[in-house]
Amino acid sequence: MVEELARRLSGKAVIGADLADSDMKGADIESVAAMAVAFFDKYEGMKLLDRGTLEKIIEKLGEEKMPMQIEIIKPSGFKPEAKDIEPDFKIHSIEKGRTAATVADFSSHFRDRLARLRRIIEAGRGLPAGLINSIDKIGSYANGREVSIVGMVYDRIITKKGNVLVMLEDESGMAKVIFIKPEGFRRGADNTFEIASKIVQDEVIAVRGKVSSPFIIANSVIWPDIPVRQRKRSEERISIAFTSDIHVGSRLFMEKNFSRFIEWLNGNVDRNREMASRIKYLVIAGDVVDGIGVYPNQDKELSIGDIYKQYAVFFDFLYEIPEYIHVFVLPGNHDAVQRAEPQPELDRRLFGELKQSNIHLLSNPAYVELHGLTLLSYHGTSLDSVIQGVKGCSYSRPEGAMLELLRKRHISPIYGYNPIMPERQDPLVIERVPDILHMGHLHRNGYSEYHGTQIINSGTWQSRTSYQVKLGHLPTPAVLPVYDAAEGSVVPVDFNEA
Ligand code: FE
Ligand code: ZN
Repeated sequence: MVEELARRLSGKAVIGADLADSDMKGADIESVAAMAVAFFDKYEGMKLLDRGTLEKIIEKLGEEKMPMQIEIIKPSGFKPEAKDIEPDFKIHSIEKGRTAATVADFSSHFRDRLARLRRIIEAGRGLPAGLINSIDKIGSYANGREVSIVGMVYDRIITKKGNVLVMLEDESGMAKVIFIKPEGFRRGADNTFEIASKIVQDEVIAVRGKVSSPFIIANSVIWPDIPVRQRKRSEERISIAFTSDIHVGSRLFMEKNFSRFIEWLNGNVDRNREMASRIKYLVIAGDVVDGIGVYPNQDKELSIGDIYKQYAVFFDFLYEIPEYIHVFVLPGNHDAVQRAEPQPELDRRLFGELKQSNIHLLSNPAYVELHGLTLLSYHGTSLDSVIQGVKGCSYSRPEGAMLELLRKRHISPIYGYNPIMPERQDPLVIERVPDILHMGHLHRNGYSEYHGTQIINSGTWQSRTSYQVKLGHLPTPAVLPVYDAAEGSVVPVDFNEA
């Protein structure tokens, strides 16, 4: 067991020579490794896991510890600017649709997706000339003719010659589109072949190319995409704070840092007080609790093993937020609601009636109109499959994967990874172009601007888990992005320092 522990901690800490298997006292290796990583993350330089430290870690694992209850003393000198601003927001949650998940529902779902995204492509500018409406007509075109088609990607494969073959499907049939690998090809070159590596299954694209029966030789790809616009700014000087992935109930939930953030909202922290004073909205994009039974052996990583208690603690934090701040709460894949997306709002049976009217429960995803700006907030569960499927995307740059979703105009383009509800109309098509796109899930902050849309990934309040260690992911916990809507700028506020 000690050997296994050494393997888990390799590069993080050195195991003391005095450690024996018996020192593990039957503790779960995952939990010990996770706790040790969290413990050593705080130190620079050489880290040694000796018998004394291991004892402390195992002792800690034994306690079911409830996070401390915070009680906030409102400072008298704090005159928040946002308090004087009238709230101006309209929530657009996704209504629960009806589906029996029959074959007919699925086919109607994908037909609807194709129809909507086709409309978006046709309304956009990059539309190629000579568009033909249905794929079955290609047969009547002579070789060498230039054509454009719109379809859903049925499959993308690499042929024996190293070319990319994309099977593009519409209601009428299937086209074989070839992206030819250029001679002397090298990665990073800006050519059609390279672009083909960004195409994923089940998304809707337009392709332009030459007929070469039975293929179309592609020379360009058009995604639905969002139009290039000027960044929109609010007239009133308001700020929106974004967060996600709080994971209350996890041993690794950073309750001290999170409490400090709540204190900060109340004007109790000296740093950036002016910024705190302008916050009118707080958006929480899911994984508010760690949940129970989300993955095998999760119970060993929980400090609160009861889902009701997890939500009780979470809402106790929210009730300490000043009431002039409106709080929008979405569920995520760790929350106790249906996993398939769109997810309905958090279930009140878990925590009773809300005690304050400034707290609003939203679906995942959901739109909110805020002072003239359109916000699209989504937990981000589909980002895993996007990172896996799209060349150039990675866990270290969440904003890159989020941008792909905007380009594909779909919240969850790749079918079969994260579950979706096969509703007859696809509610996950990004119909309205957001001014702000907010997600979490990757536990790593990221910001970017794309075509006038502000992209924000709001990170986490959970320190690095053993699972993330295994995958080599580096989270950025306790960093709160604050968006100044009048200026159109993001400032990350770091709550890691004491
Ligand atoms: Fe999470
Ligand atoms: Zn998540």
